[in-house]
Amino acid sequence: MAETKKLQPDIAFVKGVMDAGGDTVNRCYQCATCSVVCPLSTEESPFPRKEMLWAQWGLASKVAGDADVWLCHQCGDCTKYCPRGARPGDVLGAIRSNAIRYYSQPRFLADMLSKPAGVVGAIIAAMVVITVVAGLWAAAVTHHSFPIPEGEIAYHKFISVIPIDIIFLPLVGFVAFVSYKGITRFWDDISRGAGVPTSYTGTTPAPSLGILISKYLVPAVKEIISHERFQKCGQTAERTRGHKWVLWAFIALFIVTTVEMFVVDIVGNILRFSGSDIVLETPLALYNPIKILANIGAFLLIVGIWMLKTMRSQKTEEGVLKSAAQDWTLIWLIFAVGVSGLLAEILRLAHVAVLAYPVYVLHLGCVAVLFLSLPFTKFGHLLYRTTAYVHQRWAEDVRAGKAGFGLEKPMADEVAEH
Ligand code: SF4
Ligand code: SF4
Repeated sequence: MAETKKLQPDIAFVKGVMDAGGDTVNRCYQCATCSVVCPLSTEESPFPRKEMLWAQWGLASKVAGDADVWLCHQCGDCTKYCPRGARPGDVLGAIRSNAIRYYSQPRFLADMLSKPAGVVGAIIAAMVVITVVAGLWAAAVTHHSFPIPEGEIAYHKFISVIPIDIIFLPLVGFVAFVSYKGITRFWDDISRGAGVPTSYTGTTPAPSLGILISKYLVPAVKEIISHERFQKCGQTAERTRGHKWVLWAFIALFIVTTVEMFVVDIVGNILRFSGSDIVLETPLALYNPIKILANIGAFLLIVGIWMLKTMRSQKTEEGVLKSAAQDWTLIWLIFAVGVSGLLAEILRLAHVAVLAYPVYVLHLGCVAVLFLSLPFTKFGHLLYRTTAYVHQRWAEDVRAGKAGFGLEKPMADEVAEH
C-alpha cells in the first residue's frame, strides 16, 4: 500500500508572512491570473501562483528554496489584476522579508533593525560608542580639545582614521561573516529547490569562485546596474529611476570610501610614521575628483531615495503597494545617511563647529547602522536578489549540461527531468 505523507505546515512561517504584510494570502483560489500577467515570470518557472499556494499551506522549506521569490520586483501588476484581492505582489514581498530574517543570525538584530524605534536606538548607541572612542583617543593620543576641537573644522581632529577603523573594521567583518553564512545557506536551499543540489549538500559541483564571478556574477551585476527587469514592471515602472540613482550612489560612495581609506589611512599613515613632509589628510579640496564623486554620490542618494519615498507613498495610497514599517524604516535610514553627510559638509564649509561635529557623529552613526542593516533587513535584497540572479543563470546552464565544471551529460539530463 502506498505510504501517505502528511504535510506539516509551519504556522510560525505563515504568521510571519501575515505580520509582514501578506495577510491576504488565504484569499487566493489559484486561478493563475497573476502568473500570466507578471512581466517577469518565465515559462519554465512561472510565479507567483505556486508561491501563494505554498505560503497558504505553510510550506516554509519550499518557499525558502524558491529563487523565483527574489525575481519578483514588487511592481504590483499581479495585485492589480488578482480577482480575489489576494495581493500576490505584497505576499511575495512579505515572504522575502521573512526569508532575510530566516537567513540572518542573530535574529534579534533583524527584529530590532526592522522597526523605527530599534533603528533610532541603534543610531544613538553607535553615536555613544563613536564619541567615547573619540574622547579616549583625544585624551590619550592627539590631545585635541574635546568634543569641539579648536581651529579650522576638520573631522579627523574629532576622530582620526585609526579609531574610526577600530570601530568600523570589526563591523565590516561581522557584516561580511553574517552575509556569507546567509548567502551560502540560501544558495543551498534554492539549489535544492531547483533540483540542482550543489557540493555543499548534493551531487552537483558548485562552480569555482573564478567561474562564479566571470560567468555568472559579472553578467548578473551588469543586469542589476542597468535595471533591465525593473523596467519591465508596469504599475511602478517610475521606481526604476529612483532605484537606479540610489544604487549608483552606493557604488560611487563605496569607491570614495575605498580610495580614501587606501590613500589617507594606509598611505597617509605610512608617510607620517616614516617622517615624510607629505601630509595626506581629509577634508579633501572641493575640486578633488574624489570629493566631486562623493558629492555626486550624496546628491544621487538623497534625490533617488526621495523619489522612491514619493512613489511608495503614492502607490500605497492608490492601493497598488502595501508598505510595512520596515519599508519606511529603511527609506528614512538611507535618507538620514545622505542628508546628515551633506549637512556635515555644509556646516564645515560654513565654519559652524558647534553643530558640524555633532552632525558628523550623527552621520557616522547612521552609516554604521545602515551598514549593519545589510544582512538583516530589506537592504538584504542587495545580497539575496543578486544571488538569485546568479543562481538562475547557473541553474539554466546546469540543466542544459553546459555549466562547464565537469557535470556529465547523463547527470544533466537527470537534473533537467527533476
Ligand atoms: S493570487 Fe489572485 S490571481 Fe494569483 S492565483 Fe491567487 S487568486 Fe488568482
Ligand atoms: S509584483 Fe510584479 S514582478 Fe512581482 S509577481 Fe507580481 S507582477 Fe510579478
